[in-house]
Amino acid sequence: MKGRITIDRELCKGCGLCITVCPKKQIEISDSLNAKGYYPAKFKEETDSPGSKDSKCTGCAMCAITCPDVAIEVYREEKAGAQSDADSEETQEKD
Ligand code: SF4
Ligand code: SF4
Repeated sequence: MKGRITIDRELCKGCGLCITVCPKKQIEISDSLNAKGYYPAKFKEETDSPGSKDSKCTGCAMCAITCPDVAIEVYREEKAGAQSDADSEETQEKD
C-alpha cells in the first residue's frame, strides 16, 4: 500500500519524534524556520518524488500517531482494481 503525509509546519515544533519512528525514513527536518521559530519536520517525498510510483511511504501512520502536536495527516492510496462493496451491483427485486 502506498501512502503520503502532510505536515502542518506551523503546528510542528521540530521535536523529531516522527523522524525516529518512520520505518521508511521519509521524514526530515526542514532547513527553514516556521513562524514560531522552530525547524519543522517535512515529508521527503514532497520534494524528491511527488506522487511517484517509487514512493516509499506505506501510510502506516506511525508518524501521525507519535506526533504530540497532531501536525501530521496520513493519506493512503487504494490499490488499483480494488472495489468496495458499494460498487458492486445487486439485482433488485421488483413487485
Ligand atoms: S505514514 Fe509511515 S511510512 Fe509514511 S511517513 Fe509516516 S511513518 Fe513514514
Ligand atoms: S512529531 Fe510532530 S511536532 Fe515532532 S517533529 Fe514530527 S511533526 Fe513536528
